[in-house]
Amino acid sequence: MVLKVAIQKAGRLHEDSLKLLKECGIEISNGVNKLKSEASNFPLEVYFLRDDDIPQYVEDSVADIGFTGENVVYEKKKKVEVVEKLGFGKCRLSVAIRRHEEYKDAGFLKGKRIATSYPVLVRQFLAEKNIDAEIHEISGSVEIAPGIGLADAICDLVSSGSTLFMNGLKEAETILHSQAVLIKNQNLDVTQRQLLDTLLFRIQAVKKAKNNKYILLNAPNEKLEEIISLLPGMKSPTVLPLAVDGWSSVHSVLNENEFWEIIEKLKAAGAQGILVVPIEKMIV
Ligand code: ATP
Ligand code: ZN
Repeated sequence: MVLKVAIQKAGRLHEDSLKLLKECGIEISNGVNKLKSEASNFPLEVYFLRDDDIPQYVEDSVADIGFTGENVVYEKKKKVEVVEKLGFGKCRLSVAIRRHEEYKDAGFLKGKRIATSYPVLVRQFLAEKNIDAEIHEISGSVEIAPGIGLADAICDLVSSGSTLFMNGLKEAETILHSQAVLIKNQNLDVTQRQLLDTLLFRIQAVKKAKNNKYILLNAPNEKLEEIISLLPGMKSPTVLPLAVDGWSSVHSVLNENEFWEIIEKLKAAGAQGILVVPIEKMIV
C-alpha cells in the first residue's frame, strides 16, 4: 500500500513541494520529465501534474493527496478536503486597474469588463458586493488585457506586483490570500489515513521549526529572573551555570513573529552573547 501524492510538474510550487518532502525525510528520485516517481524510504508515490488539474485528480482518487495553491482549490470547487497550509507559494488574487484610474471601492467595477483566469472566484466576489460586471475568462497573460483594449480591469495572482507595474496597472483590491495547501481525497481508507497522519506529523514538525529559532544567551545571575520572564521556551527556558561565577547560560525557543521585539528587551535587561540558531525539526 502506498500513498499517492500529486505535486506540480514544473512551476512555482514544484521546487518547494519536493523540498518539503525532502525535509520530511522522504527521498524522491528526480522526476521532472516523468509522470511519476517513487520514494525510496516511505510508501509514497509522487505524480507530477499541472497545478490546475490536481484537485480533479484528488477528487477522482487518481492521487490520494495533493499539494496545490488555495487559489486553484477554491476556483475548481472539487470535492476535496484542505488538510494543512504548507507555508509556501504565498500570493494574493487581486483586482488591478490602469494606474491612473481611481478606485474607491468595488463599485468601480460596475458594468466593466474584467479579464481573469479565475472566473468562479471573481463571480463570487462580485456577487458578494452586489455588482454587475462582465467576466472575460482568459488562460494566461491576463495582465496585458487592459493594454490591448480587451478589458477595463483584471483579476490575477500577485506577489511582488512588478508584473502589474510593468503593464501600467495597479493593485486595487485583494479578493483572496493564497498559499500552497495539502488536499486529500474524501474517501481514504484506514491505511491511507495512517500514512497521511505520519506525513502530516512530519510536515507539522518542519513547519514549526521554520517558524521558530533556538536562542542561547549569557545572563548575569541577578538579572536571570527578568530575562527568564521574557522567554517563552517549549516548557520553560533551560538555565545552566557558566564556568565564571555569577553568570548563567539561558536556552530557549522563540517564535519568528515576536523575535526582534524580545531580542531588544533581552539586551536591555542585560543579556549578552546572544546566539540565534535555526531549528531543523520541532516536535512538541
Ligand atoms: P501549470 O503548468 O502547473 O498550470 P501555472 O502556470 O498555472 O503552471 P505557476 O505560475 O507555476 O503556474 O503558479 C503555480 C501556483 O503558484 C499558483 O497557482 C499559485 O498558487 C502560486 N503562486 C505564488 N505566487 C504566484 C504569483 N506571483 N503568480 C502566480 N502564481 C503564484
Ligand atoms: Zn496552472
